[in-house]
Amino acid sequence: MEPADSIGGAADRSHSLGSAVSLDSFYASPHPAQAAGSTLDEVAAVASDCQLCKLAAGRTQVVFGVGRPDADLLFVGEGPGEQEDLKGEPFVGRAGALLTQLIEGIGLTRADVYIANVVKCRPPGNRDPQPEEIAACAPWLDRQLALIEPKVIVTLGNFATKLLLDTKVGITKLRGQEFAFSRAGIDAALFPTLHPSAVLRTGGKTLAQSRADFVLVKRALARAT
Ligand code: URA
Repeated sequence: MEPADSIGGAADRSHSLGSAVSLDSFYASPHPAQAAGSTLDEVAAVASDCQLCKLAAGRTQVVFGVGRPDADLLFVGEGPGEQEDLKGEPFVGRAGALLTQLIEGIGLTRADVYIANVVKCRPPGNRDPQPEEIAACAPWLDRQLALIEPKVIVTLGNFATKLLLDTKVGITKLRGQEFAFSRAGIDAALFPTLHPSAVLRTGGKTLAQSRADFVLVKRALARAT
């Protein structure tokens, strides 16, 4: 895996890094996301009843995603926490407040972007999502990508970055760089950045790194739109 662009460098989108998680061998029948409709609302309605992994048992509701259905900028987090599970919207807790601040810092609002997660149901006690939960949920994210067609994607933290870049490399090594993303029928510029919860825990330097990453995102959007 190579970055398409290190900070300040010239973009080279000649290679793509993402690869779809195929569930053909995982499920006997096709994943319900594949036939769930042709709009985000239709896909969300089908997802709201998803029973494909054990997270279904503990959720209040499926937290599908929020924002502009044709957003140029898509954020992908890890999974809903307690407040998101109760409200049905991603990033509404403390980490969400920081994400909102970072979005506003580049002259946008939450209404301008789309925000989704790797897993759509809250892992109990906010534990990490497990590989089979991520695999079961990935086709919902693929439908979101295909329908929204974002030009720029920001992965927040390790889980989203590892899934969308199909890598085992950690976020601290990948942030600050641009990657060419090609999957679910779309081509976009992908920027891994630290998860806002991690920034809240560590502060200082990591907050400055997040702000620097968002400047790269702003430049990429200006280039792409
Ligand atoms: N953390 C996430 O990764 N996603 C949310 O929606 C909230 C917190």
